[in-house]
Amino acid sequence: MMNYGETIERIYQQLLLEKNYGQVAGYIPELATVDSDKFGVCLINRENNCFSAGDWQEQFSIQSIIKVITLSLAYQKLDAQLWQRVGVEPSGTPFNNLSRLEHDFGIPRNPFSNAGAIVVCDVLMELFSDPREVVISMLRTLAADKGIDYTEAIAASEKSEGYRNMALAYFMKSMGNIKHEVEDVLDFYFDVCSIAVNCEQLARIFMYLAKHGRSADDQHSYLSRGQAKRINAIMLTCGFYDEAGDFAFRVGLPGKSGVGGGIVAVMPGEFSLAVWSPRLNEKGNSYRGLRFLEHFTDATEITIF
Ligand code: GLN
Repeated sequence: MMNYGETIERIYQQLLLEKNYGQVAGYIPELATVDSDKFGVCLINRENNCFSAGDWQEQFSIQSIIKVITLSLAYQKLDAQLWQRVGVEPSGTPFNNLSRLEHDFGIPRNPFSNAGAIVVCDVLMELFSDPREVVISMLRTLAADKGIDYTEAIAASEKSEGYRNMALAYFMKSMGNIKHEVEDVLDFYFDVCSIAVNCEQLARIFMYLAKHGRSADDQHSYLSRGQAKRINAIMLTCGFYDEAGDFAFRVGLPGKSGVGGGIVAVMPGEFSLAVWSPRLNEKGNSYRGLRFLEHFTDATEITIF
């Protein structure tokens, strides 16, 4: 078995010596208060062993990483029907881009742009009477941790400044691709983005994508094998917005980032790896998180390519 622990520790120490670049996400006021030099790593392998370094037990805001979970829940229920409301093509644009959405008549290019994730939230509100409970219980079950929860202060903070997301949602409403009241859909979207996790919880949660749709303990099935393949493919092609190509090029794994500074990457059949470092590059992805993952797949030679 691969000794991930040594490799993680070595790269972690090496990156601590390097200058850390980027800014924390200032557009969500509550996120701007986070200590920008936090750095945590946790890998869970298929035998369920945990290898970690740094601030891996500290909680941070999941932000856009939740889009994978909400997508999985909608896809599990609707299967291919879901693609009538949202596409699966990389956008080549930032996560909050407006202009492409008008060009695409209110059908977002993919579920990991903000517009796409807002549509998925609208879909979940149609599918479940208490979608907040469905989302949080999926996370709690996968992480085997009942403590995972929403963070009201983060959700309220994002809502107070969320004009861009409102613009996206109202435009899609005008095109008939949002069925519920825009305010209610956005409240739900901001809530799911606000959930707090640490690196270990995040790595455990994403094991279902390393295990082809099944939970690490094999007790729960979330996606069929074919569906898990497709979600991993969307992570690879769209998980990092207009930096998705660069992520595939440098890291070579499906993954998803969030503006809280988290990144999770998955090696199907092998492991799930979560990294957290709040300073973001100009594309909104964790600078140090990306560096870590690039070094990690170079060193271990474990990549999907
Ligand atoms: N909640 C954030 C937003 O809507 C999520 C963006 C992200 O993490 N990239 O702007």
